[in-house]
Amino acid sequence: MSTEGQHFASLQELRAFIGDCQRCPLAAARTLLVFGVGRPDADVMFIGEGPGRNEDLKGEPFVGAAGKLLDELLASVGLHRSDVYIANIVKCRPPNNRDPEPIEIETCTPFLREQIRLISPSVIVTLGKFATQYVLATDVGITRLRGRRHEVDGRSVLPIFHPAAALYDQTKRDVLFDDFKRLRTLLDRELAGPDVSSGPVQQTLF
Ligand code: URA
Repeated sequence: MSTEGQHFASLQELRAFIGDCQRCPLAAARTLLVFGVGRPDADVMFIGEGPGRNEDLKGEPFVGAAGKLLDELLASVGLHRSDVYIANIVKCRPPNNRDPEPIEIETCTPFLREQIRLISPSVIVTLGKFATQYVLATDVGITRLRGRRHEVDGRSVLPIFHPAAALYDQTKRDVLFDDFKRLRTLLDRELAGPDVSSGPVQQTLF
């Protein structure tokens, strides 16, 4: 794998290892590599698909229209982007916002896995189909998976619609705001610690 099995001591060390990455075809057309942003010890980590045009120019995830909606969703449950960590399945913009190719995902995701290991969030929120199917290792559609707690490697995973899909779709927008309320509940439960009286972990909380 691209990290050659190495573990890094910090996000900065990982970023330095990635360097001026030329490991996959996305390098040719990108402006800036979008590593990720936020608290290195965040309780919640959001994973999107890949940088768009604005992110490619700024080097930061979710700074365009979808990012503005993400900020509103965070604010609706008392969170700010500085409280969380935000990254993507691929760190470089797919040309014309096409879907990332399997080889690009395969090359880039070892870095994401290392980010997850270092940040060690209680809850991972996957935004849309690509992040959800990668993290849950499934090809089940997002519509069936969203809004429920799943568990991967002992961590809670909450799949939700991608904010970009809700920009012009009021129904999806409403669902997203509802799913953020579920995130708030899940996070509050996680931060309260294990409830010894409730027995084994439930596969789905909602
Ligand atoms: N869409 C994504 O999936 N990620 C970004 O960073 C921006 C838009």
